[in-house]
Amino acid sequence: MTKDPQLDRPAIELTSVIKRYGSTTAVDGISLSVSPKEIFAFLGPNGAGKTTTIKMITGLLRADEGQVLVCGQNMHNNGMVAKRRIAYVPDQPFLYDKLTGREFLCFVARMYDVSEATRDRILDDLTHRFDMRAFLDQMTESYSHGMKQKVVLASAFIHEPDVLVIDEPMVGLDPKTVREVKDLFVEHTARGGCVFMCTHTLEVAEAIADRIGIINKGQLVALGSMAELRDKAHQEHSLEEIFLHLTQEKDGFGDGC
Ligand code: ATP
Repeated sequence: MTKDPQLDRPAIELTSVIKRYGSTTAVDGISLSVSPKEIFAFLGPNGAGKTTTIKMITGLLRADEGQVLVCGQNMHNNGMVAKRRIAYVPDQPFLYDKLTGREFLCFVARMYDVSEATRDRILDDLTHRFDMRAFLDQMTESYSHGMKQKVVLASAFIHEPDVLVIDEPMVGLDPKTVREVKDLFVEHTARGGCVFMCTHTLEVAEAIADRIGIINKGQLVALGSMAELRDKAHQEHSLEEIFLHLTQEKDGFGDGC
């Protein structure tokens, strides 16, 4: 993980970001800052704009308006530098069918100029934690969804990124691996990294996120820790109740964010 000279600088900073697809405004003026050492959960109903936001953070899409910074680097003007600091795990794991899991992980390590010693250290640790030894040397075309997800998650850690951006991190994983992923997130933030995850699994968000953002129809309608979201709700609501209230009814809690 790169040592950041400005430790209080946000890991991710979106300023008035807008993204349109034709006449559809998928992301409508979002401003959001995520700190190093923070696990941030980004929630929202289907079609709310989560994936579009993630694609702008990771540089796969360009914002029509506003600014996206990753570790202080402008994702549009300085994308190569920003992308070295980030790892992205999409909700549909992509692997090359004719490579083994190990070959894929070595390929990713080489792309990021990871030394063989570092690669082998991280790979050994993750092979053990994700129970990958039995299949890592088979071609990935034979893998189940969960096996693919494990290898793709491992590839996100191999270059020790500052910012982990993960779409639905736990879907398809067995309970032991879910526990390992949660532990890895906590260890990553303890080392100064940040995790930005999208999920529909509210229990996961409630259990491990330091802060939660809820997007609805392209706009951020709530932002804060669970305690702050409950405060805004003026009573003890579960995250599920808060989420449904903010995304299904006309009136939110107070002024939302
Ligand atoms: P889900 O939870 O269903 O994955 P999401 O919150 O990730 O949804 P997005 O995929 O960001 O939502 O979509 C936001 C809006 O933008 C939706 O109205 C969607 O139809 C639209 N949209 C997304 N991608 C495109 C595209 N390539 N072309 C046109 N419209 C798009």
